[in-house]
Amino acid sequence: MANTSILVVGGGFSGLTAALEAAEVGHEVFIVEKSPFLGGRVAQLNKYFPKLCPPSCGLEIQFQRVKSNPLVKVFTLAEVVSVSGKAGNYEVTIKLTPRHVKPGNYDFSEEARALSKDVPSEFELGMGTRKALHLDMPFAYPARWTLDKGALTEAEAKKLAENPVVDLDEKEKTITLSVGAIVYATGWKPYDVTKLSNLGAGMVPNVVSNMQFERLSAPCGPTNGKIVRPTDGAAPKRIAFVQCAGSRDENHLNYCSYICCMASLKQAAYIREQYPEASVVIYYIDLRTPGRYDTFKDRILADPKIKPVKGKVAKIEASGQNVKVTVEDAVTGIKGEDVFDLVVLATGMQPSLSGERLPAGIQVDADGFLVGGEDKGIFAAGCAKLPLDVMKSAQSATGAALQAIQTVKGR
Ligand code: SF4
Repeated sequence: MANTSILVVGGGFSGLTAALEAAEVGHEVFIVEKSPFLGGRVAQLNKYFPKLCPPSCGLEIQFQRVKSNPLVKVFTLAEVVSVSGKAGNYEVTIKLTPRHVKPGNYDFSEEARALSKDVPSEFELGMGTRKALHLDMPFAYPARWTLDKGALTEAEAKKLAENPVVDLDEKEKTITLSVGAIVYATGWKPYDVTKLSNLGAGMVPNVVSNMQFERLSAPCGPTNGKIVRPTDGAAPKRIAFVQCAGSRDENHLNYCSYICCMASLKQAAYIREQYPEASVVIYYIDLRTPGRYDTFKDRILADPKIKPVKGKVAKIEASGQNVKVTVEDAVTGIKGEDVFDLVVLATGMQPSLSGERLPAGIQVDADGFLVGGEDKGIFAAGCAKLPLDVMKSAQSATGAALQAIQTVKGR
């Protein structure tokens, strides 16, 4: 007989959707999430399509539904190590990384402030720092702090060891879950911009990726939402967006990442809202805004201070604190240069599983997108499967949940 429990790997928007769809029709669901809290990439955005809401608006509702449903069990700082069995009866081994803070609703703000070291924050994508004790997102679920032991001084570790809810000796554990079907909703990661050497990423100051720009624009981000030039905190007056930075390129991502044209148009609007005098140039090969997003494009481009230029950016270099962009205009064929205060690279989506060691039975295509399992009980959802926006990811997750339910019911 089939086990009717369902495992959802990944606790971003797709994973939450798949888990809730399955739990709300009566299935026990396990969510296994790699990071310390749920929410995935959406949690890092300032606003998201289609309604340009802040992430709290969609995620807090999902978190409430998870919290109030006893059929959903959440494991954070957790990763799938191995999968064995077949559709209807899988045994899944999960590795749990220690959080070093015991379960409970504890506030460590004061203790964190007292710590000496600031280390780069993974959540802020290099745009900000954190302490060894950290809770990266204001509405995080679970609202539990994480302790990075390696970022403590000896004296700090000694002092924290006396705190009864800190467990510096907590060890990595493994657990085994028995489930009938698995939904992989492992999402995406921003393409590594440092691979785009001609575009100056990681080398030329004041060149940021589109995800870093989301953190610069987010009210809970490192600048409290003030869009400033990273090197000197100046208000940028001229900003360029470089489309297809790494996408549609056989040396990098050999596909269109689907969302980055819309993301740049959205981010151009962030700039114009904050700086009515600022101007924006968007260098593009094609501006792809599928379906009803065309209306959004028309609205944004109606602003005379946002100028689309069809052209291929060949080089990006430092010019003092500014950034020099060399571009070949695709209409006139003329190669020219222009100088900006800040450049945003519209970097693409790479599936999170790309380059990772995959548990047995999981299959990916040449680009790292999941194509499902060797048999009929493993399903891909959202951006683990192909580049999608949030709305389409949720639809894909609902479809995957339905397939998982049919698998465990039909046996
Ligand atoms: Fe290029 Fe736009 Fe496709 Fe992104 S969505 S890869 S920027 S065409």
